[in-house]
Amino acid sequence: MVMPTMINKKSTKKPIYTTRPIVPDLSDYIKKLETIWNNKWFTNMGDMHKELEEVLQKKLQVNNLSLFNNGTIALITACRALRLSGEVITTPFSFAATPHVLTWNNIKPIFCDIDPDTYNLNPELIEDLITSDTTGIMPVHVFGMPCECLKIQQIADDYGLKVIYDAAHSFGVKYLEKGIGNYGDCSMFSFHATKMFHTAEGGALTCNDKKLKKRLDLLKNFGIKDEDHVSMPGINGKLNELSAALGLVVLSMYNKEREKRKQLFAQYFKWLENIDGIKLPYHLNSNNHNYQYFPIQIDKQDFGVSRNFVKLKFEEQNIFARKYFYPLCSNYSCYQQLESAKIENLPIANKTSQEILCLPLYGDLKMSEVSMICQTILGIKKN
Ligand SMILES: *Cc1c(COP(=O)(O)O)cnc(C)c1O
Repeated sequence: MVMPTMINKKSTKKPIYTTRPIVPDLSDYIKKLETIWNNKWFTNMGDMHKELEEVLQKKLQVNNLSLFNNGTIALITACRALRLSGEVITTPFSFAATPHVLTWNNIKPIFCDIDPDTYNLNPELIEDLITSDTTGIMPVHVFGMPCECLKIQQIADDYGLKVIYDAAHSFGVKYLEKGIGNYGDCSMFSFHATKMFHTAEGGALTCNDKKLKKRLDLLKNFGIKDEDHVSMPGINGKLNELSAALGLVVLSMYNKEREKRKQLFAQYFKWLENIDGIKLPYHLNSNNHNYQYFPIQIDKQDFGVSRNFVKLKFEEQNIFARKYFYPLCSNYSCYQQLESAKIENLPIANKTSQEILCLPLYGDLKMSEVSMICQTILGIKKN
């Protein structure tokens, strides 16, 4: 039974979500649509697709880039192109797509614990998980924070393994002066609407090997080589022209969006620095950061209340923060029976998953809203 006093408890404030997509001027998009209408060409690597591949290749500072209809299909295709099989070492602290992509390739995901500060795969723990069945490593640059790519590459070279990065969060991120998409054998970027650069749905693979790029292009188009030859069992991974056109107009707004987020990010730091029990995102060189997320970690012991309590308090104010990543992939019912998924094998990832909370961060978020969110946190701490 609902008590009458509880009915009015819900806040009437405008809801604040964790993220909001870049929304270009409709008139800019319509101009692109007019071109598509005139060409009568809606998909199959048209002019928009071609242009977007070229500009993104420059923007991400990579040698080869192949667009896809989403990041998950792109990652599935990368595993096929690099002929991964058997076992692949990955992180449990990611979005569902990461281990699922391996499963869809009949590969057993082997979960490896993470670094407590960067939340990325801990390279020191990889070697112990390598067996005669291991063919690759699939790390994630979590929240756009680069992995220790050189250490990971060294292990891969020592054992003859492939490395495919899930760079879904890492649009525009650089590592050691190079675009992040240059590391490993292949990297996947997601252009889903929740990501900073987006095409509504979409994604891309980047790689250094020209031959691999050719293979990716074939695989994403059913393996069709020419009118008379189908050379391999491919899939439909093509990005359509409507999405590619959206990408072109969204891209022109990206730098401004990043700049706005950068200022909000700094504002969060000002408010939340030096609060017992709150760990702020690992500090990055500001030239490398894309400000995709603002994750905080709440230690119940030191802060006084749990992450879940803070999230509920936010909801009373119509603030919707997200528990990225909870549940941990290794605790999904489809993976928890794996030896590597045991909680005692993944102590850092399990702890982080219980404590992490991504606060709202997007260009149109107001400074006053950041202040209000932070004051809510400080208010909880006091009580
Ligand atoms: C968004 C995301 C994906 C999946 O990308 P889609 O484009 O939505 O298929 C994969 N991995 C991570 C870490 C993501 O955040």
